[in-house]
Amino acid sequence: MTPSSNTDFTLDEPLDAAIRRAGALVAGARHAVALTGAGLSVESGIPPFRGPGGIWTRYGEPPMDGYQRFLRDPRGAWLERLAPTEDWMRALADAVRAAKPNPGHRALAELERRGLLAALITQNIDDLHAQAGHASVLEIHGNHRLLRCIDCNARFEPEAIAVDPDRLPPHCPECDGLVKSDIVQFGEPIPSDVLRACFDTVARADVMIVAGTSATVYPAAEFPYEVLRQGGAVIEVNPEPSELTSAATLSLAGPGAAVLTRLLEHAIATQEACA
Ligand SMILES: [Zn+2]
Repeated sequence: MTPSSNTDFTLDEPLDAAIRRAGALVAGARHAVALTGAGLSVESGIPPFRGPGGIWTRYGEPPMDGYQRFLRDPRGAWLERLAPTEDWMRALADAVRAAKPNPGHRALAELERRGLLAALITQNIDDLHAQAGHASVLEIHGNHRLLRCIDCNARFEPEAIAVDPDRLPPHCPECDGLVKSDIVQFGEPIPSDVLRACFDTVARADVMIVAGTSATVYPAAEFPYEVLRQGGAVIEVNPEPSELTSAATLSLAGPGAAVLTRLLEHAIATQEACA
């Protein structure tokens, strides 16, 4: 097989050799886990929050106490959700609605389908992993499509909750708790069920693929280092060097779509050679 390429990126031989080693690590893992972030969504057309072209760079930073504002005035927060007045919220909602999964999302879903990826943790809220066919996703920052009860953590499809503009906020049909967007806001704790599932799967991980994130924000920042402390391998997939690069077992410098597609091919080749 010749190295695959897309329109703006060609895998050279040294990178392809490193991806082959990464594919072998994944194929030989007992419990491989992936951690993904905004970089993977950028390749699907969703702008990042910060940096050049970032949503907050263009529209200004949102308040850093969004969750406290929600708790102070849940009705107001719901009215804002139903008819956003903030430009950055509208820009993000439009970009997320228009986005489609890219080959990186699909490669990870195929690794899962083949039994080569035990778990996927994402910082993204855009639902693209699920849309790519990924069956089980741990969404540490929630999912923009869903609603969540802040008391019992139950998630709901929007149509499952009657939203009456005259009787806001809606309440949980299971425990009568307050219902909000599943998106984890500034100041809001990561839902305890997701956090526990992340810690459980990371504790078992002997290989971790970190794609599209420099993993600098808690709790994700700890996960790769935890895998390394356990004697596992960390495979970084980022176009640019990050804080993780010097610590990672393998750093694959390229876009997630191209690199993960090739990693899947190598992992399958190893799997079939060992069968
Ligand atoms: Zn509830």
